[in-house]
Amino acid sequence: MDLTSAVFRFAPSPNGELHLGHAYSALLNHKMAREAGATFLLRIEDIDRARCTKAYEQQLEDDLFFLGVDWDAAPRRQSEHFPDYAAALEALADEELIYPAFMSRGDIRVHAERHIEETGEPWPHDPDGAPLYPGLDRKLSTRERERKMSDGERFAWRLDMEAAVERVPALTFTETGRSHEGVSGEIAARPLEWGDVVLGRMEMPTSYHLAVVVDDALQGITDVVRGQDLFHATSVHRLLQALLGLPAPRYHHHDLILGADGRKLSKSARDTSLKALREAGLGVEDIRRMVGFPGRPPAECFSRARSATR
Ligand code: GLU
Repeated sequence: MDLTSAVFRFAPSPNGELHLGHAYSALLNHKMAREAGATFLLRIEDIDRARCTKAYEQQLEDDLFFLGVDWDAAPRRQSEHFPDYAAALEALADEELIYPAFMSRGDIRVHAERHIEETGEPWPHDPDGAPLYPGLDRKLSTRERERKMSDGERFAWRLDMEAAVERVPALTFTETGRSHEGVSGEIAARPLEWGDVVLGRMEMPTSYHLAVVVDDALQGITDVVRGQDLFHATSVHRLLQALLGLPAPRYHHHDLILGADGRKLSKSARDTSLKALREAGLGVEDIRRMVGFPGRPPAECFSRARSATR
């Protein structure tokens, strides 16, 4: 593979059909990469084995080619690389930065409600709106942990966020797009807002946050172009990079395409899916125009050998 120094990636999850928001993100990402003379990669983020399917993967590759988005090497499929993520999780375990957390989502909700009732104080939420993990089992003894695990109690591996932030304080990341406050440049990472995030599960040695950071490093990604909805997650990513000794790419968070109701598009709303729009007879120029990329895709996108990229 002839890698130029800059490497961009588009990293969709095949758990539904791509919609106009993905089309915009992929076209912008691809355009920025091509204008920079950079390598452009496709990564299939399919760790969620219950929701991701081969059919969605094939459909998304087809939709991208239709739009004129091509990539320079075989796509990396996360489901084929669990040992890479397990090694990173192991490294964090060796540093005593993760712990088995036994409270379910329901347990967390009950704990938060009880706290509100008893103290009249609010319970903190992460930037995505989920209640923070109480972290009670952070203090369990090794013996108690081992007993619960051997009893088969369900758990997730969570990061001890306060301990992690103490190891690598005052981190920043480079934003070439816009933060939620419209700021770009060096931005202070605020991972504490997320509390003890999940980094692995019983049946899977990773979570989105861990896999994305490991893969960006393994694939030599220099530039991450993605939607504003992942802006806050970048703080967690920057922290994991620092803890694991991995390089930090530049970040470009772009505006989201909103639906007629002013809300973020979702994979379950079929009306803006690229497949549905194509089936309704819209051509490549129609769809590109809808997301602000008028005109036909450059001819070379179609002449690059498709078979070579599989
Ligand atoms: N797989 C994520 C998604 O489909 C994107 C991950 C990323 O760009 O970092 O939303």
